[in-house]
Amino acid sequence: MNTLQLIESFSSIQGEGPYIGYRQLFLRLAGCNAACIFCDTSESRGIPATCMLEQTPGQRDFTVLPNPVPVDALAHRVNHLSKAGHHSVSITGGEPLCQSEALLQLLPLLQGRIYLETNGTLPEELAKVLPYIDIVSMDIKLPSTSGREYWQEHHRFLTLASQKEVFVKIVVSSLTGEGEFLEAIHLISSVDVMLPLILQPVTHAALAIETERIVKWQERALDYLPNVRVIPQTHKYLGVL
Ligand code: SF4
Repeated sequence: MNTLQLIESFSSIQGEGPYIGYRQLFLRLAGCNAACIFCDTSESRGIPATCMLEQTPGQRDFTVLPNPVPVDALAHRVNHLSKAGHHSVSITGGEPLCQSEALLQLLPLLQGRIYLETNGTLPEELAKVLPYIDIVSMDIKLPSTSGREYWQEHHRFLTLASQKEVFVKIVVSSLTGEGEFLEAIHLISSVDVMLPLILQPVTHAALAIETERIVKWQERALDYLPNVRVIPQTHKYLGVL
């Protein structure tokens, strides 16, 4: 059956990375294969009985539907809503590639650009849907906050994703260590030194990092990569979803 486990769909402003400020139609998929200690969408890691769909872009007039959602009906709805000035459809989570089979059904039905937000740990699943993706926002998960090492998965993932437009995001926190940070930088440079890297200061207050340390991390990254930017999350500051 062609269905998908959804948390919510809504129209909002992209709050992270180089596409910050663009209007997007977000599809937040349920489920995740990781357990990061700073997770800001922990409600997305499980599979809820119902999901919420915004009726009018940006108006928060949600209706509640049972999960799972039929893929063709969801595509019809997204195509209708995303017409109104949206830069792209952001497929986010959770980890959306946990539902790669459902995405394989959904993505060919969607119109416009597809922007994938992913933890970058499921390369085999990415390979299935990559032809339908335009922009990949890939995290590199550092062991200090993810609790395990994903270096091999990240390398295979980034190698595949680099066939498309891709940028890498690393969340830096008070726990970030020199060894793991440099491992991530070397991983990126081994695929393509020109890939953009975004350093995102953690939003989780208990793990907050001082500005001086962020500047130091950027300098370390710039020793190997020419395109490194520090971009904090803005959607929480703006009070949007
Ligand atoms: S990968 Fe994303 S959704 Fe999953 S636990 Fe980490 S931060 Fe949360």
